[in-house]
Amino acid sequence: MMQNMVRENLKHVEQRIGEACDRAGRDRKQVTLISVSKTKPVSMLMEAYEAGSRDFGENKVQEMMDKMPQMPPDVRWHMIGHLQRNKVKYIVGKVFLIHSVDSFRLAEEISREAVKQQVKVNILLEVNVAQEESKFGVTLQETEDLVRQVAKLPNIHISGLMTIAPFVENAEDNRQYFRKLRKLSVDIEQKNIDNVSMNVLSMGMTGDYSVAVEEGATYVRVGTGIFGERAYAKGMVTE
Ligand SMILES: *Cc1c(COP(=O)(O)O)cnc(C)c1O
Repeated sequence: MMQNMVRENLKHVEQRIGEACDRAGRDRKQVTLISVSKTKPVSMLMEAYEAGSRDFGENKVQEMMDKMPQMPPDVRWHMIGHLQRNKVKYIVGKVFLIHSVDSFRLAEEISREAVKQQVKVNILLEVNVAQEESKFGVTLQETEDLVRQVAKLPNIHISGLMTIAPFVENAEDNRQYFRKLRKLSVDIEQKNIDNVSMNVLSMGMTGDYSVAVEEGATYVRVGTGIFGERAYAKGMVTE
């Protein structure tokens, strides 16, 4: 493998985020880059860490738990993948932010575990803005109701919204979805619901993060663009 590939890739992504901020008149500090390290070895995560990355995203509980003790303690871990209720107990108290809460029952489980451990858990609600059948997440229409229900649970705090946009050739095709999520977050913010803030918008991946930043993303989740293509075993269930 090329020496310093991860460092070079990070630099490139950083630069493009900066340019997107400039175009949108945003402060670069408003956007945090999450290095999505799923399927990648700890050695590569360490390359990213040494190049300055402190936010890492994983989509599997087991893999995240394996990597956590092997990485420095100041890493902020982001759970970005579909989360099963029976796995919640492993990550509560350890992850910085859960991006993928898509049902009241899952939120309830997180709340229950957080109470048990006497911690507070920050979460995002995952919205399936493009209404793709293959994706998890609630619809735009359902989101406010879910926010209101989840907001009443103890030891859980809704920090914002997340979406996974469709896989497209042209990133511009996803602008409409990022814009809709941002509008929804502004609408919900204006309702001043107790225990809810809408400061976080987690949107944009390797193919479309520049557009997402232009449309207000505060977290972009970039995997391939930093670590290269993922090689999945044939027949393996992945995302
Ligand atoms: C894998 C993944 C990403 C990163 O995808 P890339 O296209 O490799 O940047 C971002 N978000 C989620 C939820 C993912 O599962």
